[in-house]
Amino acid sequence: MASQPRGDIAINAEECKGCGLCVESCPPKCLELAQELSSYGVHPARYVGQGCTGCGICFYCCPEPGAITVYRLAPPPKVTVVVQGGEHAATL
Ligand code: SF4
Ligand code: SF4
Repeated sequence: MASQPRGDIAINAEECKGCGLCVESCPPKCLELAQELSSYGVHPARYVGQGCTGCGICFYCCPEPGAITVYRLAPPPKVTVVVQGGEHAATL
């Protein structure tokens, strides 16, 4: 079973200058530079669509304010099993 994603990311291609710092710094390597050019004539960064942990490293290394937004996704609720002592299930 695939694990729940822990993070997501949005890149504003009009703010990105294609320096590639985020691509190099992303630990799980889930960023790349797009093949197509932006209106600035650079290859903007883009998310490959999976693997983001929400660590925020790309956000902190990006020199362009507003180019990267990182979302930390809420973890799934923990299931708590309460076992009450003294009684056992009947044996069939
Ligand atoms: S938040 Fe972390 S894992 Fe997600 S794209 Fe940025 S550097 Fe990579
Ligand atoms: S670090 Fe910022 S400006 Fe550089 S490629 Fe990544 S998003 Fe674009």
